[in-house]
Amino acid sequence: MSVPTLTLNDGIKIPQLGLGVWKMDDADAPAIIENALDAGYRHIDTAAAYGNEAGVGRGIAQSGVAREDIFVTSKLWNDRQGYDETKRAFDETMGKLGFDYLDLYLIHWPMPAKDKYVEAWKALIELRDAGRIRAIGVSNFLPDHLERLIEETGEAPAINQIELHPRFQQAAQREVHEKLGITTECWSPLGQGEALSNPILTEIAARYGKSAAQVTLSWQIQLGCVTIPKSANHERMRENIDVFDFELTEGEMAQIKDIDSAEGRIGPDPATADF
Ligand code: NAD
Repeated sequence: MSVPTLTLNDGIKIPQLGLGVWKMDDADAPAIIENALDAGYRHIDTAAAYGNEAGVGRGIAQSGVAREDIFVTSKLWNDRQGYDETKRAFDETMGKLGFDYLDLYLIHWPMPAKDKYVEAWKALIELRDAGRIRAIGVSNFLPDHLERLIEETGEAPAINQIELHPRFQQAAQREVHEKLGITTECWSPLGQGEALSNPILTEIAARYGKSAAQVTLSWQIQLGCVTIPKSANHERMRENIDVFDFELTEGEMAQIKDIDSAEGRIGPDPATADF
């Protein structure tokens, strides 16, 4: 299974579908990562806060797949923002992963009440310029946070990883990203499983002999987003990457658009989140 890539605003290529590993035990991660690589995944999304960077690094090292053939993302946790602290946190992440470079490093949440994300961003720019990270980005940043980064540093993030699933489609935020040249990456792309019983999705899925999960991921890919479904289960992992042999029609894309809901958000609101 070969996954298409998108080219980010800095020229770096990212596989459009990867494996999310939130809530995966560090001890279980090596075997799951090896399974994922065997199924064709070449993009893994972890974070310092997930507590499994060491397991992810071990899985990659044991797999026999060359490090440079795998795209790995990690994220700076909220209590490590600030210029010096960000650099220390990055070194810790690299120590756990056991890598000499990282493909993508994200500021996990803006935490506007802390007001330290611009300092963290300056540290990321330096780490990137020093060759330690290939691409830098953010997660959960609202338009005003993105604009402030650009105003104060002249550098737009390559990616903003945001909550995005059929019940929370983020059309306005995606439009802002497009204007600023930022790629949208979807977290909780399956709505943590909730999307999968929606009758519009199951009906479209039946037409193609696919599952609602596959239709959801295909919708995100056709929107031009990167998507990172999580599964530790061998079968589901294979199912989630098997989405490149069918294409939704414009009518089906419009039907899915109607699933969007004002109450669709699952996670915290980045404007007020402070943890
Ligand atoms: P998800 O939407 O990927 O849903 C995962 C759950 O859906 C699984 O635990 C499983 O129960 C179910 N599932 C997966 N594949 C299935 C299939 N084919 N059929 C039926 N059920 C299936 O949820 P998630 O883990 O919250 O999000 C994915 C990834 O996004 C995370 O692992 C993490 O890497 C990232 N994430 C980032 C942030 C952030 O703030 N940046 C927040 C949440 C998640």
